[in-house]
Amino acid sequence: MNRENPKKFRVKSFGCQMNVYDGDRMTEMLTDQGMTSADDGEEADLVVLNTCHIREKAAEKVYSDIGRLRGKDGKSPLIAVAGCVAQAEGKEISRRAPSVDIVVGPQAYHRLPELLEKAKSGKKALDTDMPIQSKFDVLPTRKKQARPNAFLTVQEGCDKFCTYCVVPYTRGAEISRPWSDLIDEAKALVDGGSKEITLLGQNVNAWSSEDDKGRRQGLDGLIRALDKVDGLGRIRYTTSHPNDMTQELIDAHGDVPKLMPYLHLPVQSGSDPILKAMNRSHTTESYLDILRRIREVRPDIAISGDFIVGFPGETDEDFEKTLAVVSEANYAQAYSFKYSPRPGTPAATMESQIAPEIMNERLQRLQALLNEQQHEFNRQAVGRTTTILLERNGKLDGQLVGKTPWLQSVHIIAPGLAIGDLVEVEIETAGPNSLQGRMIRSEAA
Ligand code: SAM
Ligand code: SF4
Repeated sequence: MNRENPKKFRVKSFGCQMNVYDGDRMTEMLTDQGMTSADDGEEADLVVLNTCHIREKAAEKVYSDIGRLRGKDGKSPLIAVAGCVAQAEGKEISRRAPSVDIVVGPQAYHRLPELLEKAKSGKKALDTDMPIQSKFDVLPTRKKQARPNAFLTVQEGCDKFCTYCVVPYTRGAEISRPWSDLIDEAKALVDGGSKEITLLGQNVNAWSSEDDKGRRQGLDGLIRALDKVDGLGRIRYTTSHPNDMTQELIDAHGDVPKLMPYLHLPVQSGSDPILKAMNRSHTTESYLDILRRIREVRPDIAISGDFIVGFPGETDEDFEKTLAVVSEANYAQAYSFKYSPRPGTPAATMESQIAPEIMNERLQRLQALLNEQQHEFNRQAVGRTTTILLERNGKLDGQLVGKTPWLQSVHIIAPGLAIGDLVEVEIETAGPNSLQGRMIRSEAA
């Protein structure tokens, strides 16, 4: 391990896709500094842990990961803690884990090279500023992409202040990146080999900017402009907030050819009093109405969502209402979590915190229903011919895994094909989590 002159680095991202994006940008920046990414199993001189603070379990994980980085000789590589744990815990991290050399927040990671210089000379380096100059203005231009499905952060931060959530504190106020920067970055990603771009934001559909002609545009306008980028095959976006789901964005699902039929729209709870206590500012009815309108323009759309069970004060009746909303919404896929009190958020000090056993039981019931809906959605694909984008190798020899337009994973045995190929497949079998397919023909054929 060369701590004085690090050559090999590893970036490990946890949590949301925005962290994956930030991890890619840190990788590009460190490569620009002349360092190279360590291969699997290879020792790294610098390890960046790009962390998540959304739930307690995710936040605590960083400390066990730091412990595991110590080599047999008792020495650690240079360790940088980035991401939302860095922002939320700051100096406290090096106090709890003295082997940490660098602590850098999600809005300051463009300063990583300077922080690294300091750390190389044996000093602790900390930067959790939210600088006026945006990191996006100084990060290097996008490079050749390792993945055919690239992420592009268009919006960051959150002004919604749901009472359970740390994001407004760790990621800061809502900002939208300018139109021309995004068009340029999307083109650079496509030039670098990406076939699919997922637009990212904590509330991606709150994105808004003036276009190059000075007209105010919403996310639908950006999607329509990207639809015209040659070489880009697929567009996705995540995560959306129900309050920012405009009719224009809904309509885009009906007539933008490259926009994939998938919408991740968290509801969190099916009970209006709980939604009010969460400060969600939508109701179950306004949420279900969005799903009805989007299914009118795109009947086959896959709907996904997020749920929190056991929010303070949630009664059995409130929880039954969540199950009723799930039955009505009919999800293709969903994420569900037990409520986790986060320091500094209003919900953490609310009365009537729910007992862990009750949360466990509710989560099991909710997940059983969601899994059954997901399995049924997958079963409906059997016999269908569709196109998948190959994203990674499978576990078996010659096996590749790709994604359908509805974001389902499909395993195929396809010798001669490669990651990044678009392949026409017939779906043969469906499990709860993935599909098996047979190649009909590849894009190149
Ligand atoms: N902005 C998105 C929205 O409002 O729908 C979600 C962003 S958040 C990073 C991802 C998900 O984590 C949320 O939708 C919520 O379900 C979950 N989450 C956030 N805070 C949580 C907490 N304190 N306990 C459990 N789950 C939480
Ligand atoms: Fe968190 Fe709510 Fe903002 Fe989503 S909208 S990031 S859940 S505060």
